Amino acid sequence: MLDYDFDGKCAFVRVDFNVPLNDGIIGDDTRIRAALPTIQHILNHGGAVICASHLGRPNGQVVEALRMAPVAEHLQSLLGDKHTVLTATSVCGEDAIAAAEALEAGEVLVLENLRFEAGETTNDAELASKLAAMADVFVQDAFGTCHRAHASTAGVPAILKPALAGMLLDKEIKAFANAFESPKRPVVAVIGGAKVSDKIVVLENLLDKVDRVLIGGGMAYTFLKAQSKTVGSSLCEDDRLDIALAVINKAADKNVELLLPSDHLVADSFSETANTKVVGGNIPDGWMGLDIGPETTALYRERLVSAATVVWNGPMGVFELEPFSHGTSAIAKVLADSNCLSIVGGGDSVAAIKKNKVENSISHISTGGGAFLEMLEGKQLPGILALS
Ligand code: AMP
Repeated sequence: MLDYDFDGKCAFVRVDFNVPLNDGIIGDDTRIRAALPTIQHILNHGGAVICASHLGRPNGQVVEALRMAPVAEHLQSLLGDKHTVLTATSVCGEDAIAAAEALEAGEVLVLENLRFEAGETTNDAELASKLAAMADVFVQDAFGTCHRAHASTAGVPAILKPALAGMLLDKEIKAFANAFESPKRPVVAVIGGAKVSDKIVVLENLLDKVDRVLIGGGMAYTFLKAQSKTVGSSLCEDDRLDIALAVINKAADKNVELLLPSDHLVADSFSETANTKVVGGNIPDGWMGLDIGPETTALYRERLVSAATVVWNGPMGVFELEPFSHGTSAIAKVLADSNCLSIVGGGDSVAAIKKNKVENSISHISTGGGAFLEMLEGKQLPGILALS
């Protein structure tokens, strides 16, 4: 991990500065702060840093509202007076190349939004070689984009060697290794969210690795219907019943305990003000399951308390609406109170952790949504494969 002598060298650091931006105001600077350890490490060891990130979805066009200037300004305020943060108004135009050449040790250059260049997302060879020519060493610290083979994630590190993992990425890789390569057992996966179809590869992969799977969220109803339960008007993918059944059978074959909700908080409409009640077993017509019920919550709590390692992705219910947020909050709180190694990833699960203010009690909160899911699917990410 960053085992490299940066003294007198210029590092091209792929960071994730894709922050929420409204009228030039940064809504949440977590991602910028998360990149600081790597940036500061390089600067403090006599190096210079070129920061490259995408911001929003400009689709290969220059979009004034998505320029990196406010991000660079904020980075300057976080780094303080000791280091100067410069900006370029292009990704790899004349001003960017000149600024990179003139960059001195202890200075930072923030390139313009990578996705202003159409070649970024197509991994254009010319763009990659222009970017690679700016620096002496490549550092990947944007885990959230490592599942994409883009110019800045795959093209540049294929040319610019050594290509290293930054501190943030290193933490992500180690968290997965701790959960799946030589884990403390039992290992429990909590998988929720809307659809079975989005998580099927995850489930199939996890059945080879974990001891227990707790299923919640909308996807649970496809499993329950596959077991001949009635699910009322709950979210259900009728064309995935076979797959759900295959997962249940595979779990049994592999001696993995797969738990489904035994009771549900149901509502008569998808609304915060809907009539609600708790039902066990079958869900009657006209009612939809929008959260796990209290009996399920208690059972899942019990199965989590005895876990040594827990990986969580996806909410247990429609947690955005308060009446249906309790199952998801319960999982967040159990993990926070537990001494297990807890790894949480995916926008909604991380949001639930933050909403319950238990960030500091979770072992690892992943910075990647799509990248986290692809790691759970057992895939090798192109942005990680490209590293030395
Ligand atoms: P995903 O992106 O697949 O993790 O799904 C997250 C979404 O699933 C959230 O927006 C939740 O509101 C939604 N969700 C969770 N449980 C249910 C449910 N029982 N019925 C409908 N939507 C749900």
